[in-house]
Amino acid sequence: MIYIFCAPSGSGKSTMVKHLLTAYPEKFELSISCTTRAPRGQEVNGREYYFISLEEFEQRVANGEFIEYEQVYDGLYYGTLRSEIDRIEQNNKAVIFDVDVKGGINLKRILGQRATSIFVCPPSIDELSRRLHARGDTAEEMIQKRLAKAAIEMQDAKFFDIQLINNDLESAFAELDAIVNNHFCES
Ligand code: ADP
Ligand code: 5GP
Repeated sequence: MIYIFCAPSGSGKSTMVKHLLTAYPEKFELSISCTTRAPRGQEVNGREYYFISLEEFEQRVANGEFIEYEQVYDGLYYGTLRSEIDRIEQNNKAVIFDVDVKGGINLKRILGQRATSIFVCPPSIDELSRRLHARGDTAEEMIQKRLAKAAIEMQDAKFFDIQLINNDLESAFAELDAIVNNHFCES
């Protein structure tokens, strides 16, 4: 089983992914992507990402190691390794992908029925703005850019199997629990 999570920045994608990983550690594992950006804060190579140089990234693209890759931000590349699906499935766990909206649409197209794609929606752009301000880790100019991008990304919600509206947190967790438990019962 494979789950693809996407959302406009600040909608609660990390919160939803963290919920599944902590509530069901025996069932889910996060796919670790490669990125050319530098580690932030407490991030560790091989845990949040494989942090690699642009040169190594390009070599891995040439070797065909990525299922998909994107330049998510100016000059910064992120790529999903094919080997992650095998690694996680060998652990008998379901794979979670946390990727940008374009990458999520590509992964779903490639993986088809094997994957469930989930778009985490904010209840509104105003609420998204409130959350990004409350999180307190993003400069005002960047927040305005992300809000403008979010309004555009929301138009892609229809390409996902499930639109999960993250209004009240407990209700969103309950809805997510119901989705995954339903899948595990079916399998
Ligand atoms: P993303 O990964 O999509 O950028 P986060 O999961 O980091 O978003 O959430 C953005 C901020 O909003 C965080 O500070 C998080 O704690 C908060 N948040 C997430 N879901 C809710 C919710 N339902 N109600 C209020 N705040 C929320
Ligand atoms: P951050 O730098 O904040 O960790 O991530 C920035 C964005 O890149 C997030 O939206 C994250 O989901 C996305 N991302 C992370 N890994 C990948 C990947 O392998 N492919 C794509 N397309 N996006 C990714």
